[in-house]
Amino acid sequence: MIRFILLLALALGLPAAAQPDLTKVEIQAQKLSDSVYMLTGAGGNMGVSVGEEVFLIDDQFAPLTERIEAAVRKLSPRPIRFVLNTHWHFDHTGGNENLGKAGALIIAHENVRRRMSVEGFIEFLNMRFKAEPRQALPVVTFTRDVTFHLNGDEIHVYHVPNAHTDGDAIVHFKKSDVVHMGDTFFNRLYPFIDTSSGGTVDGVIAAADRVLQLAGEGTRIIPGHGPLAGRGDLAAYRNMLASVSGRIREQVRAGRSLAEVQEARPTADFDAVWGKGFLNPQRFVEMLYRNLQQAK
Ligand SMILES: [Zn+2]
Repeated sequence: MIRFILLLALALGLPAAAQPDLTKVEIQAQKLSDSVYMLTGAGGNMGVSVGEEVFLIDDQFAPLTERIEAAVRKLSPRPIRFVLNTHWHFDHTGGNENLGKAGALIIAHENVRRRMSVEGFIEFLNMRFKAEPRQALPVVTFTRDVTFHLNGDEIHVYHVPNAHTDGDAIVHFKKSDVVHMGDTFFNRLYPFIDTSSGGTVDGVIAAADRVLQLAGEGTRIIPGHGPLAGRGDLAAYRNMLASVSGRIREQVRAGRSLAEVQEARPTADFDAVWGKGFLNPQRFVEMLYRNLQQAK
């Protein structure tokens, strides 16, 4: 659905406020441990920890809030007390205002609050966003990390600098052996990196490395987009990003134009697995080229 929304917005040059038809979206829950579930619908993948409290990671789009609440109610009778935003993007924070008004405490990296407080812009997608109302904004912000002691688990939330954006958080459920990586990980589709919000490909690779250090063979990894993953999927993603960005970096240093780099097809050996997402190979190369040119 997110591919559809972005493609639609791109194709029509619509402002991001234009909402697609979400009426048929169903929220699905997948059990990952005694207390942690992955939730999918439209937009970024969510995670939820249930027990004596309900702790939700990301909240997709506002029209889905009631369905998200209903899906959570099947897992726990308790209200959603905490909402953790992995970053500021609209397909991860769209339910904030509804849930904030309903009494949830919203937590995020300080740059998420800063970006949501003012008019937003995603340059590569040419999408603009209004400043969010007070009730949609994170109430508790952190800079480096924060830990929640809930539901028999230790939930370690830590910032990874300049990755998908400048406000990314990764959530590690230590006892459950589950990690939610937000949009620092797209599983089996070329990732979008929001350079205009401080994202860099090197930061995404570093974020993947941090999770690879803590993940074991049995660790379940929730990506921001794409299916549930394991350590091997994340290692393949890291390898793809390092290979493709390394090739493009060489070409940028050699002074090649974007058209020349695209012509050389630096993604060719990865396209079969990764090239069917909302960024096709040509757009992915363009995004990395512009990112690496800025970093030169
Ligand atoms: Zn995002």
